[in-house]
Amino acid sequence: MSTGSLADFERLMRRAAIMDALSLAAEFFLNASPETWEKNVLMVLERIGEARGSDRVYACKNKETPEGKQVFLKYEWKKTGERQVNDGEKSKLQSYADLGLAEWAQLLSTGEVISRGVKSLRAEEKCWNVSETAQSLVLVPVFVGAEWWGYIGFESNVEGDEVLTKAEIDALKAVATTFGAAIRRKRMEEELKLEKESVEQKVMERTRELESAKRELQRTLTISREEKARLTASIHSLSLGFLMTDVYGEVLLFNHAVNDILSTMENAWTMQALMDKLGKIVDVQTRVRESVQKVQEIKVDDIQYLEKWIRLYLTPIKMMEEDGRVIGVVILLEDVTEAKRLQQTRDEFFAVASHELRTPLTAIKGNSMLLRRLVPQIDEQTESREIITDIETSTDRLTSMVNEYLDVSRLEMNKVTVSVEIIKAVELVSTVMRDLEVKAREKKLAWELQLPDGTDLAVKADRGRMEQVLINLLGNAIKYTDQGGVYVKVVKAKGVVKICIYDTGEGITPEDQGALFQKFKRVGDRVYARDMASGSGMGLYISRLLAEAMGGKVYLEKSEAGKGSGFVLELPEG
Ligand code: ADP
Repeated sequence: MSTGSLADFERLMRRAAIMDALSLAAEFFLNASPETWEKNVLMVLERIGEARGSDRVYACKNKETPEGKQVFLKYEWKKTGERQVNDGEKSKLQSYADLGLAEWAQLLSTGEVISRGVKSLRAEEKCWNVSETAQSLVLVPVFVGAEWWGYIGFESNVEGDEVLTKAEIDALKAVATTFGAAIRRKRMEEELKLEKESVEQKVMERTRELESAKRELQRTLTISREEKARLTASIHSLSLGFLMTDVYGEVLLFNHAVNDILSTMENAWTMQALMDKLGKIVDVQTRVRESVQKVQEIKVDDIQYLEKWIRLYLTPIKMMEEDGRVIGVVILLEDVTEAKRLQQTRDEFFAVASHELRTPLTAIKGNSMLLRRLVPQIDEQTESREIITDIETSTDRLTSMVNEYLDVSRLEMNKVTVSVEIIKAVELVSTVMRDLEVKAREKKLAWELQLPDGTDLAVKADRGRMEQVLINLLGNAIKYTDQGGVYVKVVKAKGVVKICIYDTGEGITPEDQGALFQKFKRVGDRVYARDMASGSGMGLYISRLLAEAMGGKVYLEKSEAGKGSGFVLELPEG
C-alpha cells in the first residue's frame, strides 16, 4: 500500500467518521429544545472535532450592523476540554473589514470553503481567532436559508491538514448545511413560539372583549326584562281589557281584564278567539288593518255583547324615535255597561218625569182659566189680574219646556216615529212665516220670503216636525235680531232642498259656534247667557235631531258677530 493510498484511506476514514458524527449531530439538533440548544451545539462540535481529529472547532457568527458586517466567536470547543458560548456583545464584535478579513468574508459569503496552512496566512489573518498552536485551518461557511450566517472553523495542530479531498469538503459542507438547517429550525420554532404567544395574547384580549360585551348584553337584558316586568304589571293592573297585536293582527300581549270583560277564560288570546267572540258585532281584524294603514285611532262604540255594553279603542303603535313606522296596534276594551245603564235610567226618568209633569200643568192652566171665568172680579182688580196672568204665562213656559224635554228624551231614545210624506216646501214655509209674522212686525223687522223660480219644491218630511224646526229657526231669528229683518229663501241643490233663514241680528262668535246644536255643552258665556225667560236652550239640539230623523240636517251656514246669521234646514228632495 503506497503512502498516497494510506493517506487516502485515512481521509476516507475521516470522512466516514465525519458523516457518522453528522448523522448524530442531526439527531441532536432535531431533539434540541431552546434550553438544550447550546449544550447540543457544543456536543456536535466536539463529535465532529473528534471525528476529524481537530484540536479546536468553533462557530463564528455574523452580525449586520450600521458599521458593516461584523463577526464574533459564538461557540468554541477545544480538544483540551475548554468550551465556551458567547453572545454578540459589543466588546466581542469586530468587523471583517477592520480585521483585514474582507477577502475571507468575500469567499465565505459566496459559499467557498477556506483551507489554509497557518504559515501561509497573512499577518492580519493570523491575528484574529487563530490559536498559537494551530498549524492548519479549515473554514466552512454556514447559510441559514439564503442568508450567510457565519462559519465553522476547524483547527489542527498538525501541518498539512488543510489539504482536503473533495469528499472531505463535501462532508464538511454537509456539517455546515445541517448546522444552518438546525438554526433555521430553531429560528422558526422561536418565531412560532412568538406567534403562538401573540395569538394567545390576542385570544385573551378577544376573550376579555367578548366577556365585557357579554356582561354589557346581560345588563341590557336585565334592564329590558325589568322594563318588561314593569310594563306587564301595569298592563295587568288595568281595569280596561288590553291586547297588543303586530301589524297583521297577531296578538302578542293581553291582560286578565280581557277575560273578565268578555266573560271567558282564554289562556292565550288570539285574533281568531277575539273574532269568535266579537266578530259578528265588530270586525276587529279589519279594524286593526285599518288602524295600521291609516295610522289613526279608531273608536267603536255601543258594542252589545251578551248582557254587556263594550267600547273598543284601537291605537296604532308608532316608532316615534325612528321613522314613525307602525309596528302594531293596542286594543283597549272598556266595559261601559254601568255608564250605559245609568244613562238609560236617567233618560227614562226624564221621560217619565216630563210626562207626569204635564198633567198637573194642564190642571193649573185649566183651573186658572176657570177661575177667571167663574170669578170676574179677578180681572177687575189689577193686582189679582197680574197674579193670574203670571200664573198662566209661567205655566205656558213650563209646559213648553216640559214638551221640549220630552221631545229630547224621546228623540234620544229613538222613540220618535216620523211619518214622512211629500210636502210642498214653499207652501209650508209660507204658512209658518204667516203665523210668526206678528212677532216680527212687533219688532219692526222686515219679513221676507224669496220664492224659487217656477213651481214649488217638494221635500220628503214629517209635516209637524218640519214645522217645529222652522218655528224654532225663525223664532230664533226674530228673537236675536233687533234691527233689519229676516230673509228666507227656498233653493234646490243636489238631491236636497235647502230652506235658508238669514237675519241681520247679533250673530254668533266663532268660539260659540262650536257649542250650537249640542246639549249641555258649555262653550262660551254667550250661548248660555241666553234669555232663559223665553227659551229652554234646547231648540237647536231638538231641531238637529228632528232633521236627522227625517234624513236631513240643520246647520249654521254663516254668522258674524254684530252682522247676522244664516241657518239652513236641508231636507231630501221629494
Ligand atoms: P234658545 O231656546 O236659547 O234659543 P236654541 O238652541 O234655539 O236655544 O239656541 C241656542 C243659542 O244659540 C241661543 O241661546 C243663542 O245664543 C244662539 N242662537 C240661535 N239662533 C241664533 C240667531 N239666529 N242669532 C244669534 N244667536 C242665535
